[in-house]
Amino acid sequence: SRLQADVIVLGAGAAGLMCAITAARRGRRVIVLDRSNKVGKKILMSGGGRCNFTNLHAAPDRFLSANPHFCKSALSRYTQWDFIAMVESHGIEYFEKETVNGLSGQLFCRESSKQVVAMLMAECEKAGVTVLTRCETSEARHAGHFELATDQGRFSAESLVVATGGLSIPSLGGSGFGYQLAEQFGLALLPRTAGLVPFTLTDETQALCKALSGVSCEAIVANQRASFREDLLFTHRGLSGPVILQVSSYWRPGESIQVDLLPGHDAEQALLAFKASNPRATLRTSLTTLLPKNLVMTLQAEWWPQMAEKPLADWPDRQLRAVAERLQGWEIKPAATEGYRTAEVTLGGVDTRQLSSKTMESNTPGLFFIGEVVDVTGHLGGFNFQWAWSSGHAAGVAL
Ligand code: FAD
Repeated sequence: SRLQADVIVLGAGAAGLMCAITAARRGRRVIVLDRSNKVGKKILMSGGGRCNFTNLHAAPDRFLSANPHFCKSALSRYTQWDFIAMVESHGIEYFEKETVNGLSGQLFCRESSKQVVAMLMAECEKAGVTVLTRCETSEARHAGHFELATDQGRFSAESLVVATGGLSIPSLGGSGFGYQLAEQFGLALLPRTAGLVPFTLTDETQALCKALSGVSCEAIVANQRASFREDLLFTHRGLSGPVILQVSSYWRPGESIQVDLLPGHDAEQALLAFKASNPRATLRTSLTTLLPKNLVMTLQAEWWPQMAEKPLADWPDRQLRAVAERLQGWEIKPAATEGYRTAEVTLGGVDTRQLSSKTMESNTPGLFFIGEVVDVTGHLGGFNFQWAWSSGHAAGVAL
């Protein structure tokens, strides 16, 4: 072998780097191999270039997994506060994003996500981690120790940590190699799909959304499994915005979603009150006090074209109630998601029931799986990076 170490970490993303730092601080000789030309590409791209590196409200209920208890141990042993302490010790300034509902708990770098990568690389250097880029691993064998074949030669180590990430946005380095390794070592895989991803629409709703392209408003979007209240964005391709990305992780093909365009209001009461207090106004004029004007104009053309110029006094209550019901329970059937091309994460992956929740070690001694390759997926808002830090740390202290 060209290089020997105690630990080889496959993937220099968020999880792999955190794991390497933690293990090397404990005296392990660690080599990190990454196929990309740069480390931490997803960190660099994340949060619009400012990296939403954690969330103050990180807790197990913000994660999806077939095994919901699995993430608890790692999250409690390396918390958002631990990562914040590291960020602060490097003098990186950050802020909590504000939303219409107040503070979101989402923490971003004030300057740039480059600072998070620089911090991790500085910690790697301090701890003596070797990081090699442009080094793709194509094969791994286990014979007492792990033997890897890469395009920079052979490597061997006692332990192998798989931190190769998911399938989303392939140009950022993700590959299916981690899943392939899991299968090779007899681990079960749960079906993988794109999560935190915009919806495309069927022809019926497509035209309406095209007309609304660029409009954004706060909404509650729900299905049978989940409900979120955040911003909704109409695009020329379909539906997007944080509320859609959140619900997309809980959506299955063929299902509808329910959209409440007036969260926190009782639309029926509001519309009847408009009629009582301002009977000479149109519904359009009244509604623009609650919703963006272009949204109201477009909905009017679809939902009440005949009544468009009629004063509210001419509206039967029954008809107002029908509009109110639609405003708060607009049923939309997405055609599909945009898929891995634009998804932020991959749902599913390595079945956690064959991993130790304390160490991330599999039933093959010395073989660990961390980060997104594992069937643990966070909500939007910094939770996915927190899982990468926490699971990376859990393996790092066990190696
Ligand atoms: P990754 O960060 O994907 O790292 C995997 C690494 O493995 C890559 O560097 C890859 O090159 C390498 N690799 C793969 N195969 C091989 C191989 N065969 N040999 C060698 N190396 C290999 N989450 C948040 O919490 N907050 C955000 O603000 C946020 N924004 C995002 C924005 C975008 C555009 C995207 C796509 C995702 C975002 N996410 C965000 C999700 C987050 O980036 C991921 O969940 C997280 O990066 C997963 O970390 P990881 O270390 O498991 O995998």
